Amino acid sequence: MMNSDMSTLSLSRLVLEMQESATLKMAKMARELKAKGQDVIDLSLGEPDFDTPAHIKEAAKKALDEGFTKYTPVNGLLELREAIVRKLARENDLQYTPNQIVVSNGAKQSVYNLCAALLDPGDEVIIPAPYWVSYYEIIKMTGGVPIIAYSNIENDFKCTADQIEALITDRTKFILYSSPCNPSGSVFSYDELKAIATMLQSYEHVLVVSDEIYEHINFADRHYTIASMDNMQDRTVIINGMSKAYAMTGWRLGYIAAPTWIAEACTKIQGQVTSGATSFGQKAAVTALDADQKPTIEMAEAFHRRRDLIIGLLEQIPLLLVNRPQGAFYIFPDVSAYFGKTAKNGSVIKDADDLSLYLLAEALVSTVSGAAFGNDRCIRLSYATSEAKLKESASRIEKALSQLS
Ligand code: PMP
Ligand code: GLU
Repeated sequence: MMNSDMSTLSLSRLVLEMQESATLKMAKMARELKAKGQDVIDLSLGEPDFDTPAHIKEAAKKALDEGFTKYTPVNGLLELREAIVRKLARENDLQYTPNQIVVSNGAKQSVYNLCAALLDPGDEVIIPAPYWVSYYEIIKMTGGVPIIAYSNIENDFKCTADQIEALITDRTKFILYSSPCNPSGSVFSYDELKAIATMLQSYEHVLVVSDEIYEHINFADRHYTIASMDNMQDRTVIINGMSKAYAMTGWRLGYIAAPTWIAEACTKIQGQVTSGATSFGQKAAVTALDADQKPTIEMAEAFHRRRDLIIGLLEQIPLLLVNRPQGAFYIFPDVSAYFGKTAKNGSVIKDADDLSLYLLAEALVSTVSGAAFGNDRCIRLSYATSEAKLKESASRIEKALSQLS
């Protein structure tokens, strides 16, 4: 007979020690309030509000109609990996071969594959803060130790090569960052990346994982990748995907471009975990990458206009310190001047978590606390939404904050 004593049943330490994704949690809370009839404006989830362009959807439909419904090679359709190789040559001036590309179920899975492939227990990964929420947890899940390089609004949320160097030890396996950055929107300049690449010449055991998923949403300059500098390509893994550039978040398609030994290791892991990405989605991704990039450029232009709008609106709120993001679609204001203030119901705003929850309850605007991104003085707002909603949310936020005393 099966033992029905519940005390013998338990979850793994891995899951018990893991934090729920803060971005997805806030989005869920917003969704639940909406379902109860509350007029919530969701600025928590970072995903383009645009629909996937029609020609990409047509390519998926055609693949389905043609019966393209079977498993693909674990590392992705050759046709797609060749399209990615063409993209890297065309846009980044980088030469890869298809066996250096691994297509996954979203860039999030690419991060997981990489950490699982590279980290032994106790290995260290340097992550400049603020960092994307999932980096920290995935490193922990795969036995690694996240080592944080801190920055703040005064230095545009960018840490320097010197700061990173000071954290390098014999256990450092890689540095992991996104540029353009989620959550700050900051973009490493050519010179800043070059300084990191130059510094790393003295540390041959350190790899770089460069998450470039927001590469097309860059308002300042053209996109630079550290992979193209100082013989870095052999020790850099580029992460990218379809979610942001082509408004394809729900399709779950990401990829890496990596040295062959790392690509092979990620493929081995993926072969045991997911068997690879969806077949007809991959066909559509070929179309997305090879077709005219006008829709991507137009979406980026819309994000640029919205960035200017949201900066202008938030700057009018007395105690907010507003950054000037150069890319992605997030703004990351420092809200610490509100800490210690009291809401009408008597509760005290102690930190960014409290402020974010206060804004959800009082202004019906969902944001994400910076704490989950490694900066507890800020909150993140995604401005991937309509200008009308941005105006309305800024006025609600202003009103709610003015009620704190
Ligand atoms: N990296 C960064 C920096 C992101 O913001 C996201 C979006 N969630 C991802 C990776 C993962 O993207 P996806 O899994 O949708 O490809
Ligand atoms: N990139 C988005 C965000 O940071 C999607 C949610 C997620 O995957 O965490 O909000």
